Amino acid sequence: MTLNQPSDPDVIVIGGGPSGSATATLLAQKGFKVELFERDHFPRFHIGESLIPHTYHVIKRLGLLPKMQQSHFTHKHSVQFVTEHGKLSEPFYFHDHEEEEWSQTWQVRRAEFDQMLMTNAREHGVIVHEGARVLEVLFEGTQAVGIRVKPEGQPERVVKAKVIVDASGQSSLIIDKLNLREWDPELKKAAVWTYWKGAYRDEGKDAGATIVLQTKGKAGWFWYIPLHDDIISVGVVASNEYLFQNRTKDLEALYFEEVERCPGLKPRLENATRCDGFRAQKEYSYRAKQAAGDGWVLVGDAFGFLDPLYSSGVLLALTSAGMAADAIGDALAANDPSETRLRSWEKGYVAGMDRMRRLVVEFYDGLNFGRLVRRNPDKKGLITDVLIGNLFKDEVDELWPLIDALKAEDVAKNAATAELAGAAA
Ligand SMILES: Cc1cc2nc3c(=O)[nH]c(=O)nc-3n(C[C@H](O)[C@H](O)[C@H](O)COP(=O)(O)OP(=O)(O)OC[C@H]3O[C@@H](n4cnc5c(N)ncnc54)[C@H](O)[C@@H]3O)c2cc1C
Repeated sequence: MTLNQPSDPDVIVIGGGPSGSATATLLAQKGFKVELFERDHFPRFHIGESLIPHTYHVIKRLGLLPKMQQSHFTHKHSVQFVTEHGKLSEPFYFHDHEEEEWSQTWQVRRAEFDQMLMTNAREHGVIVHEGARVLEVLFEGTQAVGIRVKPEGQPERVVKAKVIVDASGQSSLIIDKLNLREWDPELKKAAVWTYWKGAYRDEGKDAGATIVLQTKGKAGWFWYIPLHDDIISVGVVASNEYLFQNRTKDLEALYFEEVERCPGLKPRLENATRCDGFRAQKEYSYRAKQAAGDGWVLVGDAFGFLDPLYSSGVLLALTSAGMAADAIGDALAANDPSETRLRSWEKGYVAGMDRMRRLVVEFYDGLNFGRLVRRNPDKKGLITDVLIGNLFKDEVDELWPLIDALKAEDVAKNAATAELAGAAA
């Protein structure tokens, strides 16, 4: 169908990234009429290549497991950390904690993965418009009632629906319109990255591990993500201020300065050839004050973005899609797309997001994972729970007192050292 034909959808989804395609598919599975509007033409580049195990559940609901299992995407079994001095930690193998089908996940090229999700939405009956930029979400009072959209080569038009799902990623149309964005004061980061061919790969089940390598003085860290076709994605993350203020604006020079400061990384790139340009993105973390209102819902990055340290973006995008689709389905079935019904999933989702955020902040505060595990070997599984995205359960909260105890020890030790130094002087 062309965009000029009125289609009278139950639900409009803005954006065809993982959160948008997944929400649309899950609602179509429930029998609702869904139209999705994506401003770009797919396949298109997107960053966010490393999945974590608990993405499995929504991928399964979408009916995409067989395709993922037969795909050429790199298998990922673990994550590993390298200190600023180049010392490699023991890998966190996902299957050590949970011997399940989902203990193995994937490293994906997002152009291909997102295309797969969008094709799947079409196969489930979602009407997908590419090259259709949504200009505005329309409200009558507090009620969202439709969108104003500009399809390429066609005049602007208005499309109405009972529920509008904003899955527009960091464009966050509704957050901006309703002034809902809250920036995270502790996570103001930026990233610069590129792609390498022929870089070092571990063997066997370690070949697809994500490696997180700290730079000297713990000023930042590199991701090292092995993709298919012998490509490795390598990017540096640090505070926006550190990376971009009072420094060269030349991304290549900046990138290599950071490679020099990362003893764990240099040898891995020794025989590699760069096979792409440099890209940069500011990645301040933020969250909306609320995930839904009368007739509207936010999913994925359009609700909130969290620092990419533990590769949680696609997990959060898909999980919010799953939770939101269930709430929207129930609301539509009851003919009541009110704020109360559409927000019913928010509390549980935010609790999970907060758990991931807390472990991110602890890493930047200097948490030594090795020491935490040595001190509490029976609780290693809780850290792995966060790393695999098993976030939506209260048990994970047992971690925080253990981390607080380590920090209190450090404070006491530092105070004693300062006292001794004072006495010696
Ligand atoms: C540097 C960096 C590294 C990252 N690394 C990882 C990682 O390793 N693993 C991971 O899981 N996550 C990672 N992420 C996070 C991940 O990229 C996102 O969390 C994820 O893509 C969110 O999916 P989404 O569907 O919500 O949004 P998106 O994937 O951004 O999709 C939004 C879609 O909406 C479309 N759109 C926007 N505006 C409009 C409009 N007005 N009209 C119509 N369409 C519109 C866009 O074109 C886009 O296709 C990283 C992020 C950054 C910045």
